Amino acid sequence: MARKLLLANINVPGINTLEVYRQKGGYRAVEKALKTMTPDEVVEEVKKSGLRGRGGAGFPTGMKWSFLAKPEGVPRYLVCNGDESEPGTFKDRFLMTYIPHALIEGMIVSSYALGAKVSYIYVRGEMMPQIRILEKAIAEAKAAGLLGKNILGTGYDLELYVQPGGGAYICGEETALLESLEGKRGNPRLKPPFPAVSGLYGSPTVVNNVESIAATVPIINDGGEEYAKIGIERSTGTKLISASGNINKPGVYEIELGVPVEEFIYSDEYCGGIANGKRFKAMVAGGSSVPILPANLATKTAKGESRLMTYESLADGGFVSGSSMGSGGFIVFDEDQCIVRNTWNFARFYHHESCGQCSPCREGTGWMEKILHRLEYGHGSFSDMDLLVDVSKKIEGNTICPLGDASAWPVASAIRHFRDEFEWHVSNREESQIRNYGLAHYADPLEPLVQS
Ligand code: SF4
Repeated sequence: MARKLLLANINVPGINTLEVYRQKGGYRAVEKALKTMTPDEVVEEVKKSGLRGRGGAGFPTGMKWSFLAKPEGVPRYLVCNGDESEPGTFKDRFLMTYIPHALIEGMIVSSYALGAKVSYIYVRGEMMPQIRILEKAIAEAKAAGLLGKNILGTGYDLELYVQPGGGAYICGEETALLESLEGKRGNPRLKPPFPAVSGLYGSPTVVNNVESIAATVPIINDGGEEYAKIGIERSTGTKLISASGNINKPGVYEIELGVPVEEFIYSDEYCGGIANGKRFKAMVAGGSSVPILPANLATKTAKGESRLMTYESLADGGFVSGSSMGSGGFIVFDEDQCIVRNTWNFARFYHHESCGQCSPCREGTGWMEKILHRLEYGHGSFSDMDLLVDVSKKIEGNTICPLGDASAWPVASAIRHFRDEFEWHVSNREESQIRNYGLAHYADPLEPLVQS
């Protein structure tokens, strides 16, 4: 049985309350950090742990903290990014719903380490139940002297607020999130300056993911070196994975980094195999923003080594034969899934969510969506695949924020690995049209596009 650090007490009745959370050892990390450690010592422990950001980029958390500018007389902020909305990713929502005090405890420890006196948890606007759960938990913590003035008599003050998000996927991009938190439209900012220098209200700010912040609790409790003993190489600790798609046991799992992908899919401890006895066809390992991998490359790297659930192994082969850990949204496709349809679905999402500031993303996502639509609906041509690759290349690396890249990678990888399936839609126009027009009334609000 894999070790659990974040979800160890998930099945304990009442673990969402302060009373039960404390009975199970909760808030020990706050006591330890605030009473026995300096802020720099907390940062040092997080560095030793090797913890990498759990939101998508995988940047080392301790190093990110150490970049925070500390000018005299200027406030510093910690902002928790709870704007989870990547298709296939629902682990942070799970954590906020069932163990809200794990996040609040992590926020106190992390805010102390960074010298923040005011911190925010920015939660996706649609997640009203989670917002209410967090507000209730914050009120409980405040009543117990764990937030507010002079926490536990240590002299450290912290106010913690929950802010409902702007209702757009792009508000999960850290600078768009800061714009939204300031009450403006959530448009990403040009970097530099980076938030560590000029973030919220122009002050030095760290933006961390929900899971990253919660992970600081076991790191402080057990020590960074203990945490670093779990996992492999530069992928240390445990990781929450939200598993969905054609599997027997969809859900949120806490894995020790390093589990083979094959074991994660087929073991009863995790996904329990492909549903209905179907054949495994493809997966995306880290939410809709990462390259899709066919079954053979999902479980083995191009070198023939077992593919592991680590940052390094999932990325082995680059974007030619590898993928990325991304946000931990693990989606499995069985043999009945149409890759063209799923790729179009992803493209539709990114086109809808583009903020429109930069033309490669604003126009390119629309082009990709339209081309994929006509292919799926039997109106495409053989040159469309090259056109899609061309458009995706023109988006990649040419935009203000990573949404552009995120829209390009799934499309480019789907064509790379499943070109025959795209060609099938061109060679079998009639079948493709019959298959889809029956669905069109329900699944597609647009008129089928006819190629000009
Ligand atoms: Fe907006 Fe897309 Fe440009 Fe990001 S890449 S700033 S979402 S237009």
